[in-house]
Amino acid sequence: MSTILQQAQRYRNMDTTLDRKGSAEERSRTILIVEDSLSYRKLLREYLSQDNRYTYQILETETGAEGLKQYRIAQPDAILLDYLLPDMNGLEFLHALQQQIKKPDLPVVLMTRYEDENLETQAIESGAQQYLNKSELTTENLRLSLHNAIKQGELLRQVATLKLENKQHLKVLHQQEEQLRLALASAQMGIWDWDLFTGQVHWNQEHEELFDLAPGSFDGSYETFDRCIHPEDRASAHNAVVQAIENQAILCHQFRIVWADGSVHWIETRGEAYFKDSGEPLRMLGTVVNIEDRQQSEQILQNQLEQQRLVMDMTQRIRQSLDLQEILQTTVDEVRQFLQTDRVIVYKFSPDWMGTVIVESVGADWKSIVNTEIHDTCVESYIGHFQQGLVTVKSDIYNAGIDDWHVQMLESFQIRANLVVPILKGDELWGLLISHHCSAPRPWLTSEIDLVKQLAIQLSIAIQQADLFAQAQIELTQRKQAEMTLQLLNAELEQRQAVEKLKDEFIGIVSHELRTPLTSMQGSLGLLAMGVMDDEPKEMKRMIGIAAIETERLVRMVDDILDLEKLEADSHILEQEWCDASSLLQIAIEVMSSSAEAARVSVDLDCPSMEIWVAPDRIIQVFINLLSNAIKFSPPNGIVSIEMKVIDDPIVDNLDRSELVRFGSTIPFQQIHFTVRDRGRGIPADKLETIFHRFQQVDASDSRDKGGTGLGLAICKSIAEQHYGRIWVESLWGQGSTFFLTLPQPMKESSLDEGTLEE
Ligand code: ADP
Repeated sequence: MSTILQQAQRYRNMDTTLDRKGSAEERSRTILIVEDSLSYRKLLREYLSQDNRYTYQILETETGAEGLKQYRIAQPDAILLDYLLPDMNGLEFLHALQQQIKKPDLPVVLMTRYEDENLETQAIESGAQQYLNKSELTTENLRLSLHNAIKQGELLRQVATLKLENKQHLKVLHQQEEQLRLALASAQMGIWDWDLFTGQVHWNQEHEELFDLAPGSFDGSYETFDRCIHPEDRASAHNAVVQAIENQAILCHQFRIVWADGSVHWIETRGEAYFKDSGEPLRMLGTVVNIEDRQQSEQILQNQLEQQRLVMDMTQRIRQSLDLQEILQTTVDEVRQFLQTDRVIVYKFSPDWMGTVIVESVGADWKSIVNTEIHDTCVESYIGHFQQGLVTVKSDIYNAGIDDWHVQMLESFQIRANLVVPILKGDELWGLLISHHCSAPRPWLTSEIDLVKQLAIQLSIAIQQADLFAQAQIELTQRKQAEMTLQLLNAELEQRQAVEKLKDEFIGIVSHELRTPLTSMQGSLGLLAMGVMDDEPKEMKRMIGIAAIETERLVRMVDDILDLEKLEADSHILEQEWCDASSLLQIAIEVMSSSAEAARVSVDLDCPSMEIWVAPDRIIQVFINLLSNAIKFSPPNGIVSIEMKVIDDPIVDNLDRSELVRFGSTIPFQQIHFTVRDRGRGIPADKLETIFHRFQQVDASDSRDKGGTGLGLAICKSIAEQHYGRIWVESLWGQGSTFFLTLPQPMKESSLDEGTLEE
């Protein structure tokens, strides 16, 4: 009883907690009262109604059989069971109920009038949760008993559920353990468990297998494990374990082990130590795996990367260069370096399928065969296959099943093993990239063959590229030549067109200028011929006079035209000599004296006596023309002034230095400067330039009125330029004109000798 009370006390606390937390639904309970005494049932109902923590739905039966039936139907939260029922006692009811609901623990409070500990024990053993003495019945202990019965029942149900769940968890754990074991076995992963306190080591079967030990033969000692490690790796393995424990770090270490048959194998171990709270190491757990496959794959990957890099480098170099010879040389050097072999060559086919070694990379101990022409009939018979991309590999010429003569030929080049890869140009077989191993037989690896094949493909690209480049170069040269020819033709055409234009212009002008006097002559002579003036000798004479003047003008014009043409055609071949400038001017003035007199114009000359280097006739011609114009355009009683002075000006505008040879070895250092000035009508500003062009005049009537040809100044300009001099005019309309002529002058040697001229 005391036990139950203690329990009741514990659950009271729990009950309070739950009450506070409970929901409205939880606070409603269905209670089945199995009691034959009506008064007692009333009492129970009354007590229950006083419990303000719960609302009770109360079901009642008088007999045990009724009670069992009602339980089945209503599934109440608890039963208040009287011990003495008309049809059975409380224990019998409990048994029957247990049978009915198949649970050992029943939410039943058994009530009796007797103090009977034995009965209480029996009731509890039969599944009742609570035992209540009717004589002690109060609202509170009824409520508590009911509550405990319900809660105990719930707890027991929970325990049962937990047990079930636990069972299921254990099952899952077993399954997982099995899966892990299978996974470890399939991953060939060994597990070790090292008790650091006892020193005992446990290995699973996979661990033993990895260490080439029979299952179960590992004796569990660290020393046995240590003996399995490769002697060179023992210290580092031991150190790694110590470090992991000391630093409480994860162990991860790779080392070699030696099997009983002496073979060496790579192992990787990972593990972790576990420690007591005090920090003392307790045990260490870990795994071991064989990492040879991984290492091999890493090595293969590494090799592939290296090859890839080489191919990339080569591709890069090929793209950078268009020099085929350089590309081929780089390739053989690189291939020999990569293969670590004795000789690598590029063999180029000639149209008759003979071939020559055009580049070579060869070790110092082996003979050079570059530029050797090789006639290999064996290669010849393989041409078709090479064209299809065939690669031939001989690891040892003595075991290659080839003819003796072929072996001898290979021997003559010191070849022991070779690898022959075709180089194609488009679909054509261009040559072969051949690697020779001379020192010993050589098994060529697939990866090596692949690399050389890839490089041969790059070479094919380079060859095509170089071809295209060469072709482009030829085309470029041809295009440049064509362009040059075109330019020449264009220049010639332009020149011809310019000449044609000039000619047309000239013909136009000349025909116009010639036609004018001719028309005049034709008119006069026509009138005479017609005899219109037969009776008028005076008029006839005038007509003849006109015809004579025009004839004279025509002759002059033709002379001038021819003169000008001659001047321009014979440029640079003036007959120059030393003459006195003043004398030349005097001659011109003399020639023009009658004209000056007729026009009543006086000529004033201011010219020192000075030797100048000129073509005298031509310079006199210039002076006559300038003087003639000045006289023509001077008013009566006008004065024409002629001056000459020397200017120290070594700069000669239009003098080509190469032309200085015309002046001997001397350099012009001064210029003579002539001016012819009149006080006539002057020349308008817009004509100052043009009057030096052929047939250009200030006024169209000038030639007729003044008897000119319009060619005089053009001739003067041409003569001045042939002396590397300049001629120009300055004038103000109505105020006369001044014509300037400058001529560069060399230093006369006699003057130099005399020291009269500065250098
Ligand atoms: P022309 O035989 O007609 O004189 P020029 O070539 O010598 O031919 O002169 C061309 C033109 O320049 C002349 O027709 C005239 O109109 C003008 N000219 C030349 N000299 C003078 C000058 N001293 N005064 C005014 N006009 C001049």
